[in-house]
Amino acid sequence: YRSWEIQRVRTTCPHCAVGCQYDLLVKNNKLVGAQGVDGPSNGGRLCVKGRFGSYKFVMSDDRLTDPLIKDRATGKFRKASWDEALDLVASKFMALKRQYGADSLAGFACSRSTNEDIYMVQKMVRTCFGTNNTDNCARVCHSASVEGLAKTLGSGAMTNPIYDITHDVEAILLIGSNPEEAHPVVGMQIREAVRKGAKLIVVDPRDIGLTRQADIHLKLRPGTNIAFANGMCHIFIKEGLIDEKFIAERTEGFQALKKIVKDYTPERVAKICNIDPDDLRAAARIYATAKTAPIIYCLGVTEHSTGTEGVMSMSNMAMMVGKLGRKGCGVNPLRGQNNVQGACDMGASPTQYPGYQPVTNPEIRAKFEKAWGVPLPSEVGLHATDVFPAAIRGEIKGLYICGEDPVVTDPDTHHVIKALSALDFLVVQELFMTETALLADVVLPGRSYAEKDGTFTNTERRVQRVRKAVTLPGNSRLDTDILCDLMRRMGYNQPNLSAAEIFNEMASLTPSFYGISYERLENEPTKSLQWPCTDKYHSGTSIMHTGKFTRGLGLFYPTVYTPAQELPDKEYPLMLTTGRILYHYNTRAMTGKTEGLMEIAGHSFIEINTKDAEHLGIRQGERITVSSRRGSITSEARISDKTNPGECWMPFHFPDGDCNWLTNAALDQFARIPEYKVCACRIEKL
Ligand code: SF4
Repeated sequence: YRSWEIQRVRTTCPHCAVGCQYDLLVKNNKLVGAQGVDGPSNGGRLCVKGRFGSYKFVMSDDRLTDPLIKDRATGKFRKASWDEALDLVASKFMALKRQYGADSLAGFACSRSTNEDIYMVQKMVRTCFGTNNTDNCARVCHSASVEGLAKTLGSGAMTNPIYDITHDVEAILLIGSNPEEAHPVVGMQIREAVRKGAKLIVVDPRDIGLTRQADIHLKLRPGTNIAFANGMCHIFIKEGLIDEKFIAERTEGFQALKKIVKDYTPERVAKICNIDPDDLRAAARIYATAKTAPIIYCLGVTEHSTGTEGVMSMSNMAMMVGKLGRKGCGVNPLRGQNNVQGACDMGASPTQYPGYQPVTNPEIRAKFEKAWGVPLPSEVGLHATDVFPAAIRGEIKGLYICGEDPVVTDPDTHHVIKALSALDFLVVQELFMTETALLADVVLPGRSYAEKDGTFTNTERRVQRVRKAVTLPGNSRLDTDILCDLMRRMGYNQPNLSAAEIFNEMASLTPSFYGISYERLENEPTKSLQWPCTDKYHSGTSIMHTGKFTRGLGLFYPTVYTPAQELPDKEYPLMLTTGRILYHYNTRAMTGKTEGLMEIAGHSFIEINTKDAEHLGIRQGERITVSSRRGSITSEARISDKTNPGECWMPFHFPDGDCNWLTNAALDQFARIPEYKVCACRIEKL
């Protein structure tokens, strides 16, 4: 393109939570490309999803253009006007509320949406539905990070910025994370750090790209992270590697944990985890003795029935060797989707208002009641993963889903479909006719990130702007306008507000955002601010827990290893774990609309160990059936030694063999996160 024909609009990538900055290239009101710029987390880099998968989906012919109402008798949708659709939605929800009570309703926001969209969803659920039954899809990916880090450190968020943990570090402890595929621009920076001399320890049940660069790969059995972490702590204590001053001055609970980890000898841990005890010793020494060494982790730690304890065991390791509150260290969850941090920050939570302020605190509730002008419920609501069983029991009657696709993303698909089908009324606000939208009574067409202003908050707590680049034809509406209009029809006086006005309202009620505004985001040298940012002179917080922890003293939590809820047996002899590939983002709702990405990676497959394949007589590329206690799918066999014998791995993107028909919805007791990462399965020839 000739440069004068192209308009550039600076924005934030809508895929993963690295929050890469780029220019959307616009020609004649059409998106024609994306070009990386020097943002604080990407330094000009982009991955294939940002470069090619970030604009074609916006202009896809599959975009929803009109509100749709389903005739339940025929199961067919028909086009409707906005007035008809919104009147129907408002009257149905209010009728269900009158008949069954406020807690028979629930509303989910989406961690792909902007902060402003998410804020309005939870506000609608609390003010109009009158319940705290609101949540977002972080429930099924990183809710364990929010709970676990809040319990041990006081703030449920990444402690250090991306640049800091990938530059000038002596070692990196990477656990349950495949950044080269899931957070590629972080993966690139880790690779560069290793090239410059950082030691890398990879703890993962599977060979990932970075294993080739690693000094040590602990290829542990899925579901044994806590045993691993306790084994590391055992070695720190036994070999005198702990930071006694840090423990004495800055933490509590050390003696209780010391008592527990006494039994986690390297030999015992090696048996539980299926690793070499000397490798564990070597890993402990590298991590403990390096002056700077961050822990970086992802869903391999959180998506377990002991996910929260897994996260707390990450804090235990870091506190024991004094690696918190300073540069190049910390406990760093790579949050999944573009705005999963923001979705949690914005109060799409059954227990907290924006900024993690508890709904059960009367003073905080009074503050929100005064600002929003209505009484608010005092009881905590249901977590999203508890809404589905409640719907099956007939306790949840109406559900509003803004931008999520739980039929594809949540574990045990049969169970999700049964729950959604049991509802009296389901509304889905979406860009595309997803599997979940197909089950809805009303579908409302919203707008993509390229058609609106707003903000996303990346994994390092960095708030960055999203800017409108194009106006597309069709009758879709701004998501916040849909929500405000609906609120008015439900009797709440909510004028349509601009994105900046919504952000200001949120920030005025949220101490950790008091100092952030659109004006400041424009004027800051990085065009961004990291919360906490508590007043207009505050420059944001790059490294958390310097001086003292948000909770005062850091808490050692006495974590005990318990096996996954479902282990292989005679009937289902293999252990299945799941993950992401480079070319797609989650349901593929967006990346699946980009031909190039679909040509490279267009269908389901399962990685099987060579020995298991030999035993089962399965050939490379053969179509096979994979079954668990919950369902059965077909997929393509990819045979290698990437997983250990007895273990297999599947990506979670593909409808022609979606592993979530198989995965287990067993829940963690604290965060109610499901155990995606371990279930028992059987593989058979077709
Ligand atoms: Fe950056 Fe993630 Fe987008 Fe890739 S998907 S360009 S790493 S934000």
